[in-house]
Amino acid sequence: MTTITASQEQQVVDQVPKQLYIAGEWRDGAKGTLSVEDPSTAEALCDVADASVDDAKAALDAAVDAGPEFSAMAPRERGEILRRAFEMITERKDDLALLMTLEMGKTIKESLGEIAYAAEFFRWFSEESVRIDGRYAVAANGAGRILTMKQPVGPCLMITPWNFPLAMGTRKIGPAIAAGCTMVVKPAQQTPLSMLALAKILEEAGLPGGVLNLITASSSGETMSPLIADQRLRKMSFTGSTEVGRRLMAQASETLLRLSMELGGNAPFLVFEDADIDAAVAGAMLAKMRNMGEACTSANRFHVAGAVADQFATKLAEQMGALKLGRGVDEGTDVGPLIDDTQRGKVAELVEDALGRGATAVVGGHKRDGAGYFYQPTVLTDIPDDAELLQEEIFGPVAPVKGFTDEDEAIAAANNTEYGLVAYVFTSDLKRALRVCEKLETGMIGLNQGIVSNAQAPFGGVKQSGFGREGGYEGIEEYLETKYVAVNL
Ligand code: NAP
Repeated sequence: MTTITASQEQQVVDQVPKQLYIAGEWRDGAKGTLSVEDPSTAEALCDVADASVDDAKAALDAAVDAGPEFSAMAPRERGEILRRAFEMITERKDDLALLMTLEMGKTIKESLGEIAYAAEFFRWFSEESVRIDGRYAVAANGAGRILTMKQPVGPCLMITPWNFPLAMGTRKIGPAIAAGCTMVVKPAQQTPLSMLALAKILEEAGLPGGVLNLITASSSGETMSPLIADQRLRKMSFTGSTEVGRRLMAQASETLLRLSMELGGNAPFLVFEDADIDAAVAGAMLAKMRNMGEACTSANRFHVAGAVADQFATKLAEQMGALKLGRGVDEGTDVGPLIDDTQRGKVAELVEDALGRGATAVVGGHKRDGAGYFYQPTVLTDIPDDAELLQEEIFGPVAPVKGFTDEDEAIAAANNTEYGLVAYVFTSDLKRALRVCEKLETGMIGLNQGIVSNAQAPFGGVKQSGFGREGGYEGIEEYLETKYVAVNL
């Protein structure tokens, strides 16, 4: 990695369009602009358009107008637009990574990882666009025929969070384009730049005007509510916190809007006494420290067999303590800042609560003073049962390690949460591995590995982590309706 200069930083920010993208045109927001900051310096990066309610309505109008023609476009053609966009993202990955690091804070290496992951959804769904089918069956009585066809659901609203500014978009936009749906996309106001760059790429890749409409806004509730209430909207796909997800679901119930909800997590990471401890620590570093712990898939709680708990905590603390904090653009940085002071304050509160109830900080336990929103990588042991961080999504670089005595206790502890997104299991016993996987109440499991995300696989949760799946064969189904024709021969 070569040193990135301030003028290179400025250049990638300058290259990005800062306006709303509606009906194939870039235009100003009626409410002026909103500021985007670099969380590693707490300084402003640039301003982007701030949409009004009328702008948001214009975006939905455009998506509705573009719907009939786009749904009739040849699937191969839709797939080729996605394929071209995949190639353009890949060619421009270095600029996109710098942009993402500046607005979100993660290291360049991690941004490159997210960009490869994000682009992969376009490649995967470019291939899926030509595999949409239905069925033809002879009815059981032999007289009639059953015909089913898959059709695009129609105009969609997609709301995405700040922690994966590009991938959370492509995971929805890819299957929607492949299925023939038009859309309004609203990225998080803290990280709109990656999505603006993506809209530009899709425009250059030949996506017709009106298919994707991009709204950046300082008042998400105010701008999104009228769209959710509009009967022309047919689907909402939301990635974000469970709290906001609940609110959006209540609003969507008025029109019985079809929903996909990718919400918060509280992932348990189970290490059994028969596990390869070094492999478990390596997996823990990935599951905990990817995105500075600001991932819905972050390992939130480490439940470790009593016989190996001290060994695991000591090795994990050694590796966590050796990580170097810094700006994501700087060479040698392992861990970037958290997104803002509120998020850092929440992490600090959870750690203080645990320490106040008797936990021990083996390493870390404090924020780092100075510019930017840095928090030290932290390992806690002696975790009391009533520590809040066992129940709350930490969303920061904090690893609480808690011992267990047997498999049943480990499974009960893992499932003791309202969330059900992902769990991690480390064991070398195949029978135990499958037994435990069957009993875990989560949508995904990392078995002897610390990362589950893969464009080819169905990503999603159960319980209050939401419903619906993104990626895999399942991903496109979220954007298709099944129509059944009862055929009288
Ligand atoms: P958030 O506060 O729920 O915000 C997510 C998005 O919703 C943002 O674009 C936000 O806009 C918007 N929003 C907030 N209130 C809204 C309202 N009343 N009406 C319409 N839109 C509204 O979540 P976050 O803090 O950005 O992201 C972190 C959360 O996302 C964590 O809980 C994490 O677990 C979850 N997450 C889940 C997955 C998954 O796949 N399951 C993946 C990544 C993240 P503003 O920017 O204006 O607030």
